[in-house]
Amino acid sequence: MSINEIPLSRPDITKREIDLVTRTMMTGRLSIGPMQERFEQQIAEQSGRNFGVAVSSGTAGLHLVLRALEIGPGDEVVTTPFSFVASSNAILYVGATPVFVDVEPNSLNMDPEKVEAAITPRTRAILAVETFGNAAHMDKYAAIAARHEIPLIEDCCEALGSSCRGRPAGSFGRAGVFAFYPNKQITTGEGGVIVTDDERLAEVCRSMRSHGRPCEFDSAHAPTPERSVRDPVSSGPSPSTGSWLTHVRLGFNYRMSEIQAAIGVGQMERFQEILQKRESVAGMYMSRLMGVPELTLPDVMPGTEVSWFVFVVRLQTEYSCDDRDRIITELREHDVGAAPYFPCIHLLPFYREMFGFEPGMFPIAESVSQRTIALPFHSQLTERDVDIVCQTLELMISRQRLARS
Ligand SMILES: *Cc1c(COP(=O)(O)O)cnc(C)c1O
Repeated sequence: MSINEIPLSRPDITKREIDLVTRTMMTGRLSIGPMQERFEQQIAEQSGRNFGVAVSSGTAGLHLVLRALEIGPGDEVVTTPFSFVASSNAILYVGATPVFVDVEPNSLNMDPEKVEAAITPRTRAILAVETFGNAAHMDKYAAIAARHEIPLIEDCCEALGSSCRGRPAGSFGRAGVFAFYPNKQITTGEGGVIVTDDERLAEVCRSMRSHGRPCEFDSAHAPTPERSVRDPVSSGPSPSTGSWLTHVRLGFNYRMSEIQAAIGVGQMERFQEILQKRESVAGMYMSRLMGVPELTLPDVMPGTEVSWFVFVVRLQTEYSCDDRDRIITELREHDVGAAPYFPCIHLLPFYREMFGFEPGMFPIAESVSQRTIALPFHSQLTERDVDIVCQTLELMISRQRLARS
């Protein structure tokens, strides 16, 4: 691609974020500090939860939540095959078995009836994903989980700012996980935050993100939550060793640095502005593409508000996967970023090998995933950019139609 490229995504970084990063670097405190705490509070507040635990990525957050819920080998977790691969990989990390259920074709989230039908005595959790930021059915999954007395885990990595029936994404599950890779609504470069109202779960996740250091609930090991533990690297030798080198459970290093958190704090200060800009770009696409008969546009269902993560259109059913792939290739050749979001997880070669999945098992997810095209989507796209993208898309679709006839 060239400098004329309209990229698929692009973070929205201003002087504010840069100033916060610079100031943080000057303090000399680069990990475990006030920026992380501030960012955790901002994300918890946005999602209507009491606790936030910052981690190194959304994937790390999902891993910790599954471990904190003690889900492991022999356990089943009901989840969607139409997602970014990380939502299912986290289930594999703990040795549990993902049980996929097909999606509902409008929201592209799991079909609630199929979720209910997939629950067995071995089901230990429902891991629901807000696909492309759409929070539809989250209330229904929460009700199903409550009825079966199992936790709902919300992979809300694509949904910061979305809501369903007035409740924000992240507020439906026992825990929710947000992600801040540069293509998400807001970014920290890399990062994630676990949100929950369950204080014990939050503290266990805090412990596990930092090598298994004791938390408030590990009473035998002195009441030393990570925030009050003196880190010998960033704050000088700790007075009486404290619990810095006490490890009470298998932990990881899944911490978010102060520099990353500083970016996030600046992004959250500007969150409404960023959301509004994204909303306005989505509106431009909607009105520009509404009349294109070959395309199905994103469906915002009544009762839900979408915080736009990506703008994904899909070709009508007469188009094949090859047609779609050719259109994507040609868009890219014409400097328009495009991507096939997402290939079905159960059809990825290593999932097929591990579990014997075959095409045809989740027909709606498969059919949709063969025809989707993610278009360039970020806060800085202009009306002119959107126009170029749409014109190019329409041209490539009609070329494809001619090539086939
Ligand atoms: C982005 C994303 C993740 C993981 O995020 P990382 O921070 O890249 O690890 C997990 N699940 C979904 C659905 C995502 O879109």
